[in-house]
Amino acid sequence: MVAVRALAAVFGGGWVLASLASAAGVGTAASFLAEKGKLLFLASLVVMFVVRGLAGPGRTAWWCLAGAMASYLAGAATYEFSERHLAVVPDLPWSDVAFFGFYPLAFAGLFLLIRLRTRTVTLSTWLDCAVTGLTTAAVAAAAALGALLQQAGGDVLFIASIGYPVADLFLFGLIAGGLVVIGRDAGAGWWWLIGGFAVFLVADLTFAYQVVHGTYVVGGPLDTLWGLAFIAFGLAACVAPRPVRFDATAVPQRPLVVPAACALVALGILFRGYLTGGDPVAGSLALGAVLAALARTGLTFRDVRALGDSRRQARTDELTGLPNRRSVFESLDAADERLAAGATIAVLVLDLDRFKEINDSLGHSVGDALLREVGGRLREELRAEDLLARLGGDEFVVLAEELDAESALAMAQRLRAQFLRPFLLGGLELTVDVSIGLAVGPEHSGNSAELLQLADLAMYSTKAGRLGATVYDEARDGHGRHRLEDVSQLRRALDRGELVLHYQPKLALSTGAIEGVEALVRWQHPTRGLLYPDAFIDLAETAGLMSRLTTQVIDMALAQCRVWADQGRALTMAVNVSPSNLVDEQFPDVVAELLAAQGLPTGILVLEVTESLLMEDRERAVRVLSRLRDDGVGVAIDDYGTGHSSLAYLAALPVTELKLDRTFVSAMTGSHRAESIVTSTLQLAHALGLVLVAEGAEDQATVDALTMLGCDVVQGYHLSRPLPPDQLWSWLEDRSPAVVAD
Ligand code: C2E
Ligand code: MG
Ligand code: MG
Repeated sequence: MVAVRALAAVFGGGWVLASLASAAGVGTAASFLAEKGKLLFLASLVVMFVVRGLAGPGRTAWWCLAGAMASYLAGAATYEFSERHLAVVPDLPWSDVAFFGFYPLAFAGLFLLIRLRTRTVTLSTWLDCAVTGLTTAAVAAAAALGALLQQAGGDVLFIASIGYPVADLFLFGLIAGGLVVIGRDAGAGWWWLIGGFAVFLVADLTFAYQVVHGTYVVGGPLDTLWGLAFIAFGLAACVAPRPVRFDATAVPQRPLVVPAACALVALGILFRGYLTGGDPVAGSLALGAVLAALARTGLTFRDVRALGDSRRQARTDELTGLPNRRSVFESLDAADERLAAGATIAVLVLDLDRFKEINDSLGHSVGDALLREVGGRLREELRAEDLLARLGGDEFVVLAEELDAESALAMAQRLRAQFLRPFLLGGLELTVDVSIGLAVGPEHSGNSAELLQLADLAMYSTKAGRLGATVYDEARDGHGRHRLEDVSQLRRALDRGELVLHYQPKLALSTGAIEGVEALVRWQHPTRGLLYPDAFIDLAETAGLMSRLTTQVIDMALAQCRVWADQGRALTMAVNVSPSNLVDEQFPDVVAELLAAQGLPTGILVLEVTESLLMEDRERAVRVLSRLRDDGVGVAIDDYGTGHSSLAYLAALPVTELKLDRTFVSAMTGSHRAESIVTSTLQLAHALGLVLVAEGAEDQATVDALTMLGCDVVQGYHLSRPLPPDQLWSWLEDRSPAVVAD
């Protein structure tokens, strides 16, 4: 490369000097040198372009340029030969054929170079290129060509000489257009090319002018001009290749102003042509430019619309059509500015209760339909300027301005009211509740992202305490920023006896008597109030505190059982147990001890296990359950229907009771499908010799339907919510006083 550069410099320099000398009329020797030197220089350019192709990217492009140079060289050599050695110049001079061969090859080479620089070449890019190129060519044509063409008057030779500037115009147009397309990425090489072709164009135009006027002299100053153009080409090849950027995310910033201005200029040329009957070549080029600009405008509209669509899609939740998480975070950024400007902003976080169970038991299509319906109902209740978005899963968020804590809470209550009506989904009628937490800026924080976190904490407290909707409270939620993932607090609760039990009665439908209760644990938290199991059961499980918790619950439940038995009521006691209990081989012994300590018959206790839990470590679980069964303890499958366990599997388990999940029970009166699920489960339970307990009966109609179908036991809010022991006792007494044996 270096050698070729040096060679090009020597020959090029020599030739320029000789041309200058010859032009100044120094002598024939110099003129001879100039001719030969020119050929040598052109040859060295060919070599340079070939080597340049080998050196970097764009091999074909540079080789096309080398071909173009070679063709020009052939033209120059033939021209010189015919000028010097032939008496008569042929009709179709071979030199002109070779000279013209330069153009298509140069065009192809430049085209490839542009493509190399613009990785993301779209149709719009090429149209920009065409608009700029055609306008440039039209301007040049309007400025000089028209006059020449008129003077040429149909002479073949003249036409041929005018053909050069016309072809130059196309090349120049391509380069100018290419420059616009490449934009800031264009390196020095590109500028040398532009300069070279500009000089080339001027030289060819002058040549055409001189031919038309009969003033052209071989070896005159004009030849030097061409020489300069070739030197510029050589320099373009000498510039080291620029690294091509492959940054996929960087959209090339192209100056759209240039093509737009070009289109205006082209229109101006057309208009001028219309008024003055100007040059047809310029007119055609300008028309082409205007048409390309029109096509470009059409594409731009399409692109802008597509961009708008894709932006919208990126910010929309596919399922509900509401704005998505990303959109929320963008809005939060904007909210920060509004907060700084003195606005008040309320952030509400809404989370559906028991959504996972609905999804698991009724299928994802029902879950999806529910989320869509929820989204629609919430939207109805909000003002147009409020943002409602789905954060993900069953979590929604509302951003509302100009609300203080009180009015934001009122809004939250209105949103909750939307859940009073059951949801009708695929033939099922579902009652779903929602927990809402809210935080208000600047009262709770001046940072909207933090407001979202605080609202989230408030939502967790709301859910844990079944409070419906609450405002963030520093005293209650402040320390619980980690969602109660504070094991030490739970450990302390176990030590200090902060866990309490509520009892929910179970009604035997055949006798109409309360046959037993289910013990449900609550945590009387010192600062957060009464917490429900979903707030801490998972924590106990992951912190390894489950075994302690269960033992404590069974102990308390059996003690309560003892008290009630002493007061004249023999009630069965159902207690929920966890996976970790069932893999603990000591567990049956612990249970037996606790029963013995209270002097209660083993049949009084029923342990509830969930289906999914039984699937985990089946063999060990079956072993532990079998021992409990052997001791006479009852075993119930809880939340039946949500765990996808198979019939064959159930039949092999040592269980006594099936508790049908409340998702099916609560939906049964509104839907035949849910009713047939209940019916078939009943048949299955009875066929296996199991007692069927229906959970979650919330109204008399459900209890009636269950009685009709032959269900054994019902449990649900309609009968009673889970109650503290003294309240339950009063409730029992109101129904039927206890019979105390003397
Ligand atoms: P589960 O064992 O299926 O308990 C029934 C749950 O349904 C209770 O919620 C009860 O309040 C609720 N429920 C009863 N009737 C109705 C009704 O008609 N409508 C509606 N919507 N709900 C009704 P709770 O007390 O929040 O317990 C939730 C779950 O926490 C329990 O589900 C159980 O899996 C677990 N759990 C409760 N106590 C303990 C425990 O001591 N140990 C363990 N390991 N888990 C427990
Ligand atoms: Mg249970
Ligand atoms: Mg259950």
